[in-house]
Amino acid sequence: MVNEPRVTVWNEFRHEMRNPAVEKIYPKGIHQAIASHLQGQGIPTRTATLEEPEHGLTDAVLAETDVLTWWGHMAHGEVKDAVVDRVYQRVLEGMGLIVLHSGHFSKIFKKLMGTSCDLLWREAGEKERIWVIEPGHPIAAGLGPYFEIPRTEMYGERFDIPAPDTLVFLSWFAGGEVFRSGCCYQRGKGKIFYFRPGHETFPIYHQPEVLQVITNAVRWAAPVPGTPVSFGNRPQPLEKLGGE
Ligand code: ZN
Repeated sequence: MVNEPRVTVWNEFRHEMRNPAVEKIYPKGIHQAIASHLQGQGIPTRTATLEEPEHGLTDAVLAETDVLTWWGHMAHGEVKDAVVDRVYQRVLEGMGLIVLHSGHFSKIFKKLMGTSCDLLWREAGEKERIWVIEPGHPIAAGLGPYFEIPRTEMYGERFDIPAPDTLVFLSWFAGGEVFRSGCCYQRGKGKIFYFRPGHETFPIYHQPEVLQVITNAVRWAAPVPGTPVSFGNRPQPLEKLGGE
């Protein structure tokens, strides 16, 4: 049996509570749509939301999380800095992080990127064609040369991020803009993947290709047993120093 990563799906969970159109698409929340798909793939998955104590991301939960997925939009500012710092440390230690759609403006993504993470956007319900530009990458496994989202919000360049270590997907929109929609990074020992699709007023987290990418991404971002790391003063050299 494959050793699957332990995943925590985090969601702000506000739009679903306040906008009936969003609630209709995600009656149990965006987090449950993603989590139930991952569970169906045999990936042990829990959820956490903004309103829970410590946003559901206690030390104990994060210690048992190999990969965290993040969806937020209208309440980025309500996420406590102490929780952001805790997630940040876990990423440096090796926890994977999948940042979804409007999570580009989350505190944790901006802290990890070090840039504004700003972009162009338009809500016109237009088509998006997502091109796979690294077909050998594990996050693209099982996809064709491209897939399409029939109606979505547009995100356009410039996307103010550092150049990705690997760019897996590039989006084209019916209105003419393009966008780097699948971006891989490493920070410390942790892998980070930004994935653009997921606007809350369209059923995007019910689309098979989108769920396939999220499944691939959590497996890709899982920590691997690495070399132990030490920092600080090292008074004892490995070799004898100085003349005899
Ligand atoms: Zn959106």
